[in-house]
Amino acid sequence: MRSFSIFSSCLVGNREAINLSICNRIDLVEFLVAPASKVLDHWFESDILKATLATDAAIGSMASIYSPGSGYVLLHHVMGETNGARGIWSYVEGGMGAVSTALGKAAMELGATLVTNAEVNQILTREDYHNHLVTGVLLNDGTEVKAKAVLSNATPYVTFQKLISEGALPDEYLQKVKSIDYRSGTTKFNVAVNKLPNFSVCPNTSEEPGVQHFGTIHIGAESLTHIDVACQEAWSGLPSQRPIIEMTIPSSLDKTISPPGQHVINLFVQYTPYELKVGDWRSCSVRKKFSSSCFSLIEEYAPGFTSSIVDYEMLTPPDLEQVFGLTGHVDLISNLMLTSRGETDERREQGETRKGGRAGRGQEGKGLGGRE
Ligand SMILES: Cc1cc2nc3c(=O)[nH]c(=O)nc-3n(C[C@H](O)[C@H](O)[C@H](O)COP(=O)(O)OP(=O)(O)OC[C@H]3O[C@@H](n4cnc5c(N)ncnc54)[C@H](O)[C@@H]3O)c2cc1C
Repeated sequence: MRSFSIFSSCLVGNREAINLSICNRIDLVEFLVAPASKVLDHWFESDILKATLATDAAIGSMASIYSPGSGYVLLHHVMGETNGARGIWSYVEGGMGAVSTALGKAAMELGATLVTNAEVNQILTREDYHNHLVTGVLLNDGTEVKAKAVLSNATPYVTFQKLISEGALPDEYLQKVKSIDYRSGTTKFNVAVNKLPNFSVCPNTSEEPGVQHFGTIHIGAESLTHIDVACQEAWSGLPSQRPIIEMTIPSSLDKTISPPGQHVINLFVQYTPYELKVGDWRSCSVRKKFSSSCFSLIEEYAPGFTSSIVDYEMLTPPDLEQVFGLTGHVDLISNLMLTSRGETDERREQGETRKGGRAGRGQEGKGLGGRE
């Protein structure tokens, strides 16, 4: 854990931490480029513990925990902190939307005008000598909004390939954007239940949530091999037969998001390929088969779970794309780390964009950087 702390400081550019000993430098490089399996084998013996930690190396990606670079995915997921506590993730009271609401409120207090439900059809540019400069956006309803700068938090695919006309970007830059690998094997479930899961290994003692409900609950993955098999299935175009499930129950701590006694459960599930070799995610039977396999797996650990389900929403990679404009759901693997997300050498040197004009700086903030 101390190593995680040093390495995360390095990644955010903490000068003191950059003065690493040779040993720590080797460990850092190993984290960045090695397979997660190698990192975990180095530090731990228990298969179950390694598999539990390894799910954080696979999450959000289509990579195996034996793939080079998956060590970084693991580091990425444990290096954060909340209120000074390292490696801790938090729930947002009122649900994730409360973050956007708070940002919007703060922006409006500072004089910003917010317009919602307004899809951008085009980012407008004009030619200025060798550059294309951004002049604003065109909304789907035909409204033109003039601006000196446009910040986009849509994905690079949406921003640079759909919203900006091709001729406005340098070929080299566009080529890099086009080569971004968006494959992700994650499906998200939002489940409403009428009672808390009752885990066989830690049975409920009352109807109130216990510590076993507060954190991230890892279900299914009991060995590194198991996670790898689940990934191999997805690589061949099939949803994993025994998926890897991370369950969280935000309502166990946040009473504002469900009626008394009822709960909201989030399932982060891997692996589900964007394109299936057989069938289609739009098919009801394909969806039902996969959701049933997830619920049956949970049932093995928490008998009675399936019958407690009041309703659920299932978001496969194509659903995440359709509902949120989230292209594929970009892979966290190391070839997309730091400055490797489509920046041209010219931009790295000069710290600003060319041709894409000032829009590029904002766009770089998201899509190119802000993944989970
Ligand atoms: C399944 C899943 C689970 C996750 N779990 C977690 C988690 O537990 N914790 C965590 O911290 N992070 C998590 N993340 C990551 C987190 O969701 C993202 O990091 C975060 O949403 C990024 O925020 P954003 O505002 O940059 O982009 P987004 O939330 O992707 O917002 C981009 C917005 O742009 C809009 N848009 C796209 N195109 C247009 C257009 N043409 N015109 C107008 N608007 C447009 C989209 O509709 C969307 O609202 C998860 C992500 C996924 C996919």
